[in-house]
Amino acid sequence: MLDIPQRSVEARAADLDARYGDLAPAELIGTMAYHFFPDRLALVSSFGADSITMLSIVAEVVPDLPVLFLQTGKHFDETLRYRDEVVKRLGLTNVVDLYPEPLALAQDDPDGMLHKRDPDACCAIRKVHPLNRALKPYDAWITGRRRHQTFARRQLPIVEADGTHIKLNPIATWSQDDVDQYIDEHDLPRHPLVAEGYPSIGCAPCTARPAAGEDARAGRWSEAGKTECGIHWMR
Ligand code: SF4
Repeated sequence: MLDIPQRSVEARAADLDARYGDLAPAELIGTMAYHFFPDRLALVSSFGADSITMLSIVAEVVPDLPVLFLQTGKHFDETLRYRDEVVKRLGLTNVVDLYPEPLALAQDDPDGMLHKRDPDACCAIRKVHPLNRALKPYDAWITGRRRHQTFARRQLPIVEADGTHIKLNPIATWSQDDVDQYIDEHDLPRHPLVAEGYPSIGCAPCTARPAAGEDARAGRWSEAGKTECGIHWMR
């Protein structure tokens, strides 16, 4: 492990971004996984519409990197089947399922309809809290977020601070064409719902097809006035 002085997470993220933010995604991930955060780095993946891009890059460089998957209990069946197909195809050896706390579900979502009444609370129980617990052993995590996806993501850094963690967004600068080209060139399977008009795929009750001309994530929580599940807010 390289010797890096302990500083604030913000300063460390800014330094890593300045020094390594121009690396190609595979190089960046390899550098972080083997030199800066050995055994302290994980990928968080939804196995959604474009997730296979980041999963494939990780599989090439660090196939045993922990891949954290939130088993919310609300996924499309297609997503769960696709997850199994992708894991096998890419040879990922360390996919970890994260579950909500049964007691929290029993207390706050006994009928499974909390997503209708209070989607923020539902995401907190089914996504944010399980991920926060799971990230405790790690110093850094990887996402597949990109700048073009939403207005709020337009200035997404390659390396950023996320509370006590470093967060890597290795393909932040990629366009949708870049992603599509990568998937085609590597002959990777797409999530089956992409062909049915879903460019962004999360939990089934909170995912709709966006209307023509809307951004790719417009179908997420489209009736709730919500744009993010909360896992990307500082922990
Ligand atoms: S995306 Fe919807 S169903 Fe999934 S955790 Fe959030 S509110 Fe609940």
